[in-house]
Amino acid sequence: MREPTGPTWFAWCFSHGRMHNFIPCGEADSPDGAWCTADWVKLDGSTEEEALAAKTARFGDAQFIDQLPFDVQVGLYEQEWRPRRA
Ligand SMILES: [Zn+2]
Repeated sequence: MREPTGPTWFAWCFSHGRMHNFIPCGEADSPDGAWCTADWVKLDGSTEEEALAAKTARFGDAQFIDQLPFDVQVGLYEQEWRPRRA
């Protein structure tokens, strides 16, 4: 088993509708351990509970992209998802 190179971090994935946890592994293709290429947003917090609280504070109960207000969708697309795919 490979040793992690950093702390686990959390993201809410609006494509899969659930939390992801990513474990940095230092691999060249994904040094931060982000194995999902869909539409996730990194969350504050070092535990899943903290991350979920941060997600709820920012996005409420929205689980999938289409449950977010349109302007929030646009903001995330412009700031997070489009640059990641560039
Ligand atoms: Zn995902």
